[in-house]
Amino acid sequence: MSAAPEQAARVAVIGCGIGGIATALALAKKGITVAVYERAPDIGEVGAGLQVGPNAGRILADLGVLEHLTVKAVLPERAVMRSIDSGEEIISIDLSSFPERYGSPYRVMHRGDLLSGLMKAAVDTGLVAVHPGKELVSATQDADVVTAVFADGTTASAEVLVGADGIRSRVREILGDDSPPLASTYVIYRGTFPRTPEFENAVTLQTGPHHHVMHYPIRGGEEMNLVCSFRSVRGPVGSDAWGTAEELDEVFATANPVVRAAIANLDRTKKWVQFDRDPRPGWTQGRFLLIGDAAHSAHQYFAQGACQALEDAVVLAGLLSEADDLSQPLERFEQIRYPRTAAVQRGSRWWGELTHVEAAEAAVRDQMLGAIGDTGLDHLDWLYGDASLPIPPVPDSRDVYEAIPGTERVLGRRS
Ligand SMILES: Cc1cc2nc3c(=O)[nH]c(=O)nc-3n(C[C@H](O)[C@H](O)[C@H](O)COP(=O)(O)OP(=O)(O)OC[C@H]3O[C@@H](n4cnc5c(N)ncnc54)[C@H](O)[C@@H]3O)c2cc1C
Repeated sequence: MSAAPEQAARVAVIGCGIGGIATALALAKKGITVAVYERAPDIGEVGAGLQVGPNAGRILADLGVLEHLTVKAVLPERAVMRSIDSGEEIISIDLSSFPERYGSPYRVMHRGDLLSGLMKAAVDTGLVAVHPGKELVSATQDADVVTAVFADGTTASAEVLVGADGIRSRVREILGDDSPPLASTYVIYRGTFPRTPEFENAVTLQTGPHHHVMHYPIRGGEEMNLVCSFRSVRGPVGSDAWGTAEELDEVFATANPVVRAAIANLDRTKKWVQFDRDPRPGWTQGRFLLIGDAAHSAHQYFAQGACQALEDAVVLAGLLSEADDLSQPLERFEQIRYPRTAAVQRGSRWWGELTHVEAAEAAVRDQMLGAIGDTGLDHLDWLYGDASLPIPPVPDSRDVYEAIPGTERVLGRRS
């Protein structure tokens, strides 16, 4: 994938998703050599659209990634929430104020475009080597060095090992947490399709009781990205009976015409289980560290998982650049990052619940959100603005998890 730098890598990163390659790039920008090990044989276009809030946009600009995006990111004019049946607007936020307010616009792009932009920028530093086809199976450490062992029998050593290996992190297991991620009863369908005039240049959330769609333009505005989700209780989560395409049609039968036009483009052959984890400290042991989804996986409702992984990357690089012993600042990293990422995890669940409330609660919600309007931005300053701003108390989700005997815990309401 990339020529190995002449010097040995000081940091081994496991996983070449957004978090892993961004960490490699940020470290390399500080002069630290990195080797990235990815289990997939190719690193490419997994996933579809990604919203990149200004907190992450500032990082992409600082890391010089924007110039490496071969397909332009889209700058949506507004973020809109609509009632899914009537199509009526509930709240609209003008995004044009973001560059002045937050130092970066709100962007939407294809995940593959972002990944390849990060990759180009990282490899260009000459300090990052990327090794596909390397699945970490175990790792050990002593006082000075970590040793990673891969499924093909090869090993690699470094001063520090960063687990950026996603929600089912092997590194997290090696640190002693082999708990499964938490499954939601909300099924996800996704799709991309050519943009037509009824789809404005906006990040649009269309919401109803226990179902929603999210759509926005990507790839220079030529395509639309669509995520469609609804709660299914027909059979165990992930089973054939659960969240079928037929149930999807039933749930969205009364949706407004724009939504119905959009969902005709979904890939009905693939449904996704939605996972997250409870906030849980303990991301580091000695020379091992977790970042990104491996450390703090969240639901997509705040559209912040990848953005938080980008924040991890620059905070870690800043700390390591000032240390002779690279293991020394790892606990400090967790102290800095844990409160913020935990707030994103909790807030994402909470916003997901608010998105899916029943009609009576929705009437109250809609009136209150409508009254807030653009002043609602004040509530987002902690997330999109200066990361040192105090984190507002994000309500803990009420009753969102219930234990299903013998299975992973499943998201659902106790009624
Ligand atoms: C429907 C949906 C919509 C979303 N929308 C947004 C959004 O708009 N904005 C946003 O910021 N976030 C969004 N997210 C979240 C975002 O996609 C994730 O938080 C982010 O991609 C996590 O990046 P990561 O690098 O930590 O993990 P991952 O992307 O999961 O990368 C982990 C990598 O590690 C590799 N790996 C795993 N195990 C091993 C091993 N043993 N050895 C070697 N390699 C290994 C994997 O193959 C993978 O390449 C969304 C998520 C979903 C599900």
